[in-house]
Amino acid sequence: MTWAEPSSTATALLLLGRGTDPDTEKGVECPGDLPAPSDPDLVERARAAKAALGDRVFVLGHHYQRDEVIQFADVTGDSFKLAREAAARPDAEFIVFCGVHFMAESADILTTDAQRVVLPDLAAGCSMADMAVLAQVEKAWERFASLGIASEVVPVTYMNSSADIKGFVGRNDGVVCTSSNAETALRWSFEQGTKVFFLPDQHLGRNTAVLKMGFELADCVLYDPHRPGGGLTDEQLRGAKVILWKGHCSVHGRFSLDAVEDVRARVPGVNVLVHPECRHEVVTAADFVGSTEYIIRVIDEAPAGSAWAVGTELNLVRRLALAHPDKQITFLERNVCYCSTMNRIDLPHLVWALEELVAGRVPNQITVDASTAHYARVALDRMLALP
Ligand code: SF4
Repeated sequence: MTWAEPSSTATALLLLGRGTDPDTEKGVECPGDLPAPSDPDLVERARAAKAALGDRVFVLGHHYQRDEVIQFADVTGDSFKLAREAAARPDAEFIVFCGVHFMAESADILTTDAQRVVLPDLAAGCSMADMAVLAQVEKAWERFASLGIASEVVPVTYMNSSADIKGFVGRNDGVVCTSSNAETALRWSFEQGTKVFFLPDQHLGRNTAVLKMGFELADCVLYDPHRPGGGLTDEQLRGAKVILWKGHCSVHGRFSLDAVEDVRARVPGVNVLVHPECRHEVVTAADFVGSTEYIIRVIDEAPAGSAWAVGTELNLVRRLALAHPDKQITFLERNVCYCSTMNRIDLPHLVWALEELVAGRVPNQITVDASTAHYARVALDRMLALP
């Protein structure tokens, strides 16, 4: 297994697009009149609105977005790359983020006050980000304090978390990480303290600690916010090196060891390439592990005729297969595995958002309050300063 270097929800998820709760990443109703998906002029309307806005708008497209949306992106990338791209466009009045809520928050934090970040559908949240809510995390921290270990614990949060959680981490001398730099972030953290509190993705935390840092699985404990005391004894917390938050990605968490064994039996010589948000046994059984950008690069550079089973979001795997007809690229799972919240951004929502901007209205603006943004930025800047 090669892992490349870079370059239980707090509350039940609302039915997507139903009900309102703008303080979380849960589904909320779209406030506008969306064009019908069957409208044959949608592509032309999107083109016309984008042309009318010109340089005033910059459209970011995450790799997991639908084809119908990604065609209008000025730049595509993973969450970290897109946040940096947003920050690098200070002249764009509007950043239209075709991705999910936490990404748009990061873009708002990293862009100027004059710029407005728009998420075409507010129901495009992230189930993983929803699994860590600030009040729960603060409760865990209070427990660490009562045990006298808080001063030696460094909080680390994955980019895929709400601005609230990034702000908590910034306030408590911690750092943000991505799937590309998680090892560097953990090494930095262990220079600052003796334990790491890793939020919200248990799998990225465990995979990094064990496969990159050399910890034993027994050095990691799982803090479950839905159980009293996180479901951990005082001794377990005192003895742990890595305290993992019980969160996971509902897409990458579905890939199974069975699927790896199955594809190896079906496709002789297949290379299994997965994202580190996958479960530990899947990552351990894979041949290559890395971030979304890494997965794209590996496939781009793979020799013609090679066979690949890829464990990441299906929109991206489909596009990779179409772009590389000389390679045999299959989806690792047999079942469909789209990210349902990413897929909330469709062409009708994009057209609506762009046409609203043309009409002088700013729809679905994502804003992070000044205090949260300040501390989240502290944690993000610490990450950017990592070697
Ligand atoms: S793929 Fe996973 S981590 Fe990414 S937005 Fe979807 S649920 Fe969240």
